Amino acid sequence: MLPALPERVSKETEKLLLRLGVNLLVGAKVSVVGSDRVSLTDGRTIPAELIVWAAGVKAPDFLRDIAGLETNRINQLVVRPTLQTTRDDNIFAIGDCSACSWGERGNVPPRAQAAHQQASHLYSQFPRHLRGEALKDYRYRDFGSLVSLGEFSTVGSMMGALVGGSLVFEGLFARMMYLSLYKMHEYALHGPAKVALDTLARLITRRTEPHVKLH
Ligand SMILES: Cc1cc2nc3c(=O)[nH]c(=O)nc-3n(C[C@H](O)[C@H](O)[C@H](O)COP(=O)(O)OP(=O)(O)OC[C@H]3O[C@@H](n4cnc5c(N)ncnc54)[C@H](O)[C@@H]3O)c2cc1C
Repeated sequence: MLPALPERVSKETEKLLLRLGVNLLVGAKVSVVGSDRVSLTDGRTIPAELIVWAAGVKAPDFLRDIAGLETNRINQLVVRPTLQTTRDDNIFAIGDCSACSWGERGNVPPRAQAAHQQASHLYSQFPRHLRGEALKDYRYRDFGSLVSLGEFSTVGSMMGALVGGSLVFEGLFARMMYLSLYKMHEYALHGPAKVALDTLARLITRRTEPHVKLH
């Protein structure tokens, strides 16, 4: 479950799903998806009336080897620590479309906080690039993760970079953190008036809206 997140967040999420009656088959590889069943490579078959396939993130195919640049298995542009693509100093890639090394932990995860940090880093480095000066390396700082299970629960770890992701919390506190983060993002994009109006409208319409996160 959630292999990119700290182990304790992954374990807590697993426990929450089990409590909700979700049957988890971790590490099972799907071989065939039929109209009424899913078959696994170990020979097991799971009968199903409704099948939802969510097999991870992949960048669009048009990015593969675009303009001779290096891309990886999931079509992300491979970048150096300076966020410059490996084959062209003047082409930078940030966010989900880029593959930036995070040392032994693999690549920087495709998350909003990484995209935000990389954008800020690039903004500060561009003037140096235009002056022909050496660029500073980008370093991913993991400030933690929040996993929202809609109305049921929220689980998360805070200040991952500072305490190694060991400060795990859930319940009302995690949910309040999640909601305030969400409002902060909305505020940054839309400003105070729209966020206030939207919050009010949501309070009025929440009874008729779906209770799981659909974006
Ligand atoms: C369902 C879901 C839930 C998520 N929840 C979280 C979360 O809780 N926390 C978290 O940290 N991260 C979360 N993420 C990941 C987060 O959304 C991304 O990591 C982040 O948005 C990456 O930012 P980005 O700018 O790289 O890409 P995006 O935000 O995806 O922006 C890319 C933009 O490029 C546009 N675009 C695409 N193709 C073209 C084209 N050919 N020409 C022009 N424009 C184009 C797209 O329309 C889009 O506007 C979630 C992602 C999904 C899908």
